[in-house]
Amino acid sequence: MVIVMAPDAAPADIDAVVEIIGTARCDAFVSRGFTRTIIGLVGDVEQLQEVGLRALPGVADVVRISTPYKLVSRDHHPDRSVVRVGGVPIGPRTATLIAGPCAVETPEQTLGAALMARDAGASLLRGGAYKPRTSPYAFQGLGERALRILADVREETGLPVVTEVVSAQDVDLVASYADMLQIGTRNMQNFPLLQAVGQVDKPIMLKRGMNATIDEWLMAAEYIAQRGNLDIVLCERGIRSFETATRNTLDVSAVPVAQHLSHLPVVIDPSHSGGRRGLVLPLSRAGLAAGADGLIVDVHPRPETALCDGPQALIDEDMPALAEVVRTMAAVSDRTVPQPSGSPSPV
Ligand code: PEP
Ligand code: MN
Repeated sequence: MVIVMAPDAAPADIDAVVEIIGTARCDAFVSRGFTRTIIGLVGDVEQLQEVGLRALPGVADVVRISTPYKLVSRDHHPDRSVVRVGGVPIGPRTATLIAGPCAVETPEQTLGAALMARDAGASLLRGGAYKPRTSPYAFQGLGERALRILADVREETGLPVVTEVVSAQDVDLVASYADMLQIGTRNMQNFPLLQAVGQVDKPIMLKRGMNATIDEWLMAAEYIAQRGNLDIVLCERGIRSFETATRNTLDVSAVPVAQHLSHLPVVIDPSHSGGRRGLVLPLSRAGLAAGADGLIVDVHPRPETALCDGPQALIDEDMPALAEVVRTMAAVSDRTVPQPSGSPSPV
């Protein structure tokens, strides 16, 4: 943190600021310039109230230098992290494919989607049991029944399961079935939920809030990390913009920006961002080209009957093309496509 004194600050104002810094057990470095004085602070600056400092006589500005997030930052952990989900890695050397239905509807539909996912080279199965819907009249998910279906399909296909949790009370139940817990865009700043998943022994996928800045997203990740769980994968899933041609705007630049600021893996969701089947493959290519460590993609055996997000689900005939996108983009970026066992496939 740097405190910029006003040009007319009195020596007593400068001394008062230095004294306050000392009481907070921080070190103050005073640079007396020609027109103004700047005071640099080193130490546990969180203890100092930024607002209070601004109000002191002679203080013109208070500028934060270090990032407000710590555990998820690259200052804390300079190398990029690998997060393992049921043995499957997601990280700087992977192009990990997660695929499955938006929502679990029936055992047959879920198994069908899981087989499609596996055909396309997916090593993880997605599927919603608790659906955070905009309308209270829309399908809300099958809850624990869906979790049991997902566990059965995992047994049958060998694909570890990623599923969303929407309430802090359900965290232990969802964690008892799932291999990775997803926090959806609408819950990115549900702080009690973030703290609850921070205490489970399962990796977390944290989707970016559709209205959240990258800093807010990383602060949300910090809530999880601060409770002890550092196995977090960030997911860029599109943000609100003025554009109405797509459901949301995939912020491709968020991939390298978040990877620069944080050591956590970053994947993209080309399905919920574009909102249309025809956009999924181009957005997948764009995300992987920007350096994403994986994709999470909606697939459905019969999207015309889907209870949630049918228009964006890929169909059986799309699977070879999806596999090709993942394979070729992995090859050009020197990444491997993990298999369900965690062993890399020949690219
Ligand atoms: C989902 O992945 O099922 C989902 C609801 O996504 P989002 O939270 O990004 O809308
Ligand atoms: Mn969905």
